Amino acid sequence: MNFKNNIDYAKKLDAQDSLNIYREKFYIPKNQNGEERIYLCGNSLGLQPKSTREYTERIFKDWQMLGVDGHFNAKNPWVSYHEILSDKMARIVGAKPNEVVSMNSLTVNLHLMMVSFYRPTKRRNRILIEANAFPSDQYAVKSQIKFHGYDIDASLVELIPRKGESVVRIEDILKLIEDEGETIALVMIGGLNYYTGQVFDMQSITKQGHKKGCIVGFDLAHGVGNIPLQLHDWKVDFAVWCTYKYLNSGPGGIAGCFVHEKHKNNKSLPRFEGWWGHDKESRFLMGDKFIPIPGAEGWQLSNAPILSLAALHASLDIFVLVGMDKLQAKARNLTSYLEYLLNEIQLDQIQIITPSDKNERGSQLSIRVINCNKLLFNAISEKGVIIDWREPDIIRVSPVPLYNSYTDVYRFVEILKECLN
Ligand SMILES: *Cc1c(COP(=O)(O)O)cnc(C)c1O
Repeated sequence: MNFKNNIDYAKKLDAQDSLNIYREKFYIPKNQNGEERIYLCGNSLGLQPKSTREYTERIFKDWQMLGVDGHFNAKNPWVSYHEILSDKMARIVGAKPNEVVSMNSLTVNLHLMMVSFYRPTKRRNRILIEANAFPSDQYAVKSQIKFHGYDIDASLVELIPRKGESVVRIEDILKLIEDEGETIALVMIGGLNYYTGQVFDMQSITKQGHKKGCIVGFDLAHGVGNIPLQLHDWKVDFAVWCTYKYLNSGPGGIAGCFVHEKHKNNKSLPRFEGWWGHDKESRFLMGDKFIPIPGAEGWQLSNAPILSLAALHASLDIFVLVGMDKLQAKARNLTSYLEYLLNEIQLDQIQIITPSDKNERGSQLSIRVINCNKLLFNAISEKGVIIDWREPDIIRVSPVPLYNSYTDVYRFVEILKECLN
């Protein structure tokens, strides 16, 4: 694609974009003068679909009119509300509906999955993770290692980029698993690293991990609703994600979980149990012997927060309407346009650390700003841009195909240039 560096060209791309109608379905934050801000932070918190209110209102209304009867008699009965979402979510992550469930929050789900899938032994007790994984993931895996009585220094293996490089090479990951896989119980990587924006080749990692007898799980907080995923076909053992980033379910929205169907009836897996994971037919007989629902639903603990499910429902309906293929096609083009404009700046001060290969990134570019500090970020923010800053020197910019425009990207780069000068 031969891009051009001017506003008319950006506007032309917007006019030609078949997804440009979706921006109107979201609330774009405004400044005090009522002007729309340039929101490039959907990787941190997705914007609010205008339909969220209607979906959640429905729950308030049902509760108001029906009280407890809403569990069975609401328009969408609360006992099975999460099931409506499984089909939609399954399409987004490339799974069968009974392999996914919406429940809890992300870090909680990660722990629940590790209870079942991190089964360290004397010979094989290590966990492989990226060196710069999201802190909560680091805390979660380290605390699991400690919980099982192992030593973090010995049992945590971190993927570190080569000297002078910002991202980890896939060949180095595969080699590490080849060489040390027999001591690794669990490979648990962020499928798209939150800091660098790098997408890992999950299919190859899973295959290599399995060859060496490891369990392989992914944190897809930044992958879900963003990059192509085929969790079932890749034979990933488990995955977890939050839904308030690219999936726009609102702050702290209910999270997601995938368990491959090969584990569906595995009675030898230990798990933490709760009544919502119990066989649906006999749940309300209130017996004391736990019978798990086959599939991901069997990991549920509590009855679900319906307001949160309803908010997610509103957003997933938009995803179903658009389709992931179209979204990803636009995402690639929008991110490439951002990359092109940044490369046009030709200042040594900025360096994109996210891979340039389109298969190795999603809707995010992480920009290292050299000899700059947070003052640069503050100056950009004052000009109406919402992006984020990660210490010590990274600006993360995320043009989201559902509601961002080529003009947003163009205007952001103009502001960045002004601030750099
Ligand atoms: C956003 C994010 C989290 C946040 O965890 P919560 O449990 O939702 O607070 C954790 N891990 C990764 C990789 C993330 O990107």
